[in-house]
Amino acid sequence: KLFNEVQEAKGNIRVFCRCRPLNKVEISAGCSTVVDFDAAKDGCLGILTSGSTKKSFRFDRVYTPKDDQVDVFADASSMAISVLDGYNVCIFAYGQTGTGKTFTMEGTEKNRGVNYRTLELLFKISKERSETFAYDISVSVFEVYNEQIRDLLATGPTSKRLEIKQASEGSHHVPGVVEAKVDTISEVWNVMQAGSNARAVGSNNINEHSSRSHCMLCIMVRAKNLMSGECTKSKLWLVDLAGSERLARTDVQGERLKEAQNINRSLSALGDVISALAAKSSHIPYRNSKLTHLLQDSLGGDSKTLMFVQISPSDQDVSETLSSLNFATRVR
Ligand code: ADP
Ligand code: MG
Repeated sequence: KLFNEVQEAKGNIRVFCRCRPLNKVEISAGCSTVVDFDAAKDGCLGILTSGSTKKSFRFDRVYTPKDDQVDVFADASSMAISVLDGYNVCIFAYGQTGTGKTFTMEGTEKNRGVNYRTLELLFKISKERSETFAYDISVSVFEVYNEQIRDLLATGPTSKRLEIKQASEGSHHVPGVVEAKVDTISEVWNVMQAGSNARAVGSNNINEHSSRSHCMLCIMVRAKNLMSGECTKSKLWLVDLAGSERLARTDVQGERLKEAQNINRSLSALGDVISALAAKSSHIPYRNSKLTHLLQDSLGGDSKTLMFVQISPSDQDVSETLSSLNFATRVR
């Protein structure tokens, strides 16, 4: 309740910043931490740049390396579950490769992330409400790579080109995409496994590939109010974005150059859309990338947007960290 009041006062875009711990390689290489968390409780963080100057940033939440998956989900959950009340929602993780985007969204088997926890909670609440609402939940899994949409749940030959269409009532969808109906969390787990297996097919280095493509989980909720008979349809997108790092010019040629340009294009399109929304601009440039076009229904209007900006604590990454924090500041 309180969240929704705060939400209305502040608009529908929230930004949470999460910093991972220094890893073993960084520790043994003698890397130091450039992030100051003294005021993290107030949503502030400082970055120590060269010459002992400190740049300060403020977000809706700041998570230190000590905060765990439970802490993060405690703040993200109210937004995620509002899909059951008919809201369209988009939650995504932005940042340099290796900063914990996949850790936050997918997590690991021992440390489940936002995706799994969200679905678990959606099933729990829909069960609790079963006397008043009938919910129907289905899941699609997409990958967007080089401005091409791939259906990760499709079986058989997938030469078919997927396109985004606008339905008569204005909502966007991808005709022919697999929507897997799910009733339990174990079914969801199977669907997610199928998705990540499909993602690995045809790439010789899955880690490199996944850092250059956007992985997008779409949860569709159809709700029927059993008292009034009213039906609503809403969507929750859970997105693990491609790495935001800039590649050194000299390293980039051919296919790599095309990949890098497409990543830049879609991430800047995302930034442009969110800042246009925050500025209440009359034109929102959704069509500039497949990413923003797919997310269109869940960005803007009365939908809710949550961005995790993921950062590294290491002095070696400070310029990428500043660039991510500036991106996140622009959209806030
Ligand atoms: P990205 O998806 O942004 O490339 P990953 O999620 O793969 O980054 O994270 C890189 C590594 O750091 C992984 O081994 C992951 O488990 C670890 N990691 C990331 N964030 C955290 C965290 N908050 N706490 C502990 N380990 C983390
Ligand atoms: Mg990742």
